[in-house]
Amino acid sequence: MKILVINSGSSSLKYQLIDTTEGPLAKGIIEKIGSEDAVFTLEVGKKHFREVMPIGNHNRAVEIALTFLLDQSYGIITCLNEIEAIGHRVVHGGESFRRAVLIDDLVLAKIDEYSLLAPLHNPANVAGIRACAKVMPNVPQVAVFDTAFHQSLPPKAYLYGLPYDYYEKYKIRRYGFHGTSHQYVSQKAAEFLQQPLETLKIISCHLGNGASIAAINSGRVVDTSMGFTPLEGLMMGTRSGSFDPAVVLYLMKHEHLTAPEMDYILNKKSGLLGVSGISNDFRDIEEAIKTGDQRAILAKDMYVHIVRKTIGSYAAVLNGLDVLIFTAGLGENGITVRAEICAEMDYLGIAIDLDKNNCRAQLADISASKATVKTLIIPTDEEAAIAKETEKLVQATK
Ligand code: AMP
Repeated sequence: MKILVINSGSSSLKYQLIDTTEGPLAKGIIEKIGSEDAVFTLEVGKKHFREVMPIGNHNRAVEIALTFLLDQSYGIITCLNEIEAIGHRVVHGGESFRRAVLIDDLVLAKIDEYSLLAPLHNPANVAGIRACAKVMPNVPQVAVFDTAFHQSLPPKAYLYGLPYDYYEKYKIRRYGFHGTSHQYVSQKAAEFLQQPLETLKIISCHLGNGASIAAINSGRVVDTSMGFTPLEGLMMGTRSGSFDPAVVLYLMKHEHLTAPEMDYILNKKSGLLGVSGISNDFRDIEEAIKTGDQRAILAKDMYVHIVRKTIGSYAAVLNGLDVLIFTAGLGENGITVRAEICAEMDYLGIAIDLDKNNCRAQLADISASKATVKTLIIPTDEEAAIAKETEKLVQATK
């Protein structure tokens, strides 16, 4: 089945056409939507195409993406009917969506309602869904939520120690994000190990520019590091991660910061970038470490520390551990960071083979022979996961 996967942002739209038996056929991104100089890109195998053009809104972005997918010179598809379904990445599904769903008017209204919880993301997701409905009104659309996999969290793990009224009034609680990725890699781990997911205690480390860790018992998330928003938990590329919330009040008072200014600092100016003063990208941090840069070393040490601390606490939550997964940009490629995270974890049964660890972006078992925990690198593929979920739901209605 050919499925168009859409990840729509406020001024961008990522698209990928996936054949669920053959794999990705084409992908691209449209950036700066709403401007005269929007940037359109398309990748088909080794061919890359880029053009700057005016793209006023998401409807136009979808139309243009489809025009290129139909362009005979690329040989991707010959007619729109070949696209049998559209799968959308939707950031927030609140407490309503525990799994992916076919989109109808009620679902769309609910996604729109959750714009209150994800004001930057959900309105963009809604715009993407509406744009596709306009251009391809008869093609079924599916919403795959970043939060859905974490809906199995028990109240003791998702509630904050705040007055309970705020949960009732505003639904303030931990939601967790990167759910599609955590679900995908945990299923892949079970397949790779040829063991039922239901028998495994897994800690999944999604370490990208955004980063989160999930504790998964028998295929259900029992704790996760991101919270009400993706800001909570690990220190990330530009996000602070968790710290004493009183610091926010202190800084706002003494630096005379407005709420949007504080929000910007926490989300865009903190984390690896804020501590190192160099970059949010671990590759730059590693280069600076080679020159002896002390702040780069500190940023890396802090990063490793919080990941190790989270793994330890999740092993406690799980009462043991069978599988540790590394995924996403840094998890898949960060050879030294993986080695440092896994050092002196033998008390948990974690030990890695440094030769096996010397690899990037490929599925690998990097455990040492003495380890009782399997440590795996599993490349994530959120688009493939969205396509698979979409196919499953659309097949079920046939
Ligand atoms: P993602 O958000 O999953 O695309 O991950 C992006 C991040 O992965 C980058 O900001 C880097 O910190 C990290 N990364 C990607 N490639 C490498 C690499 N070869 N070595 C170290 N870190 C990497």
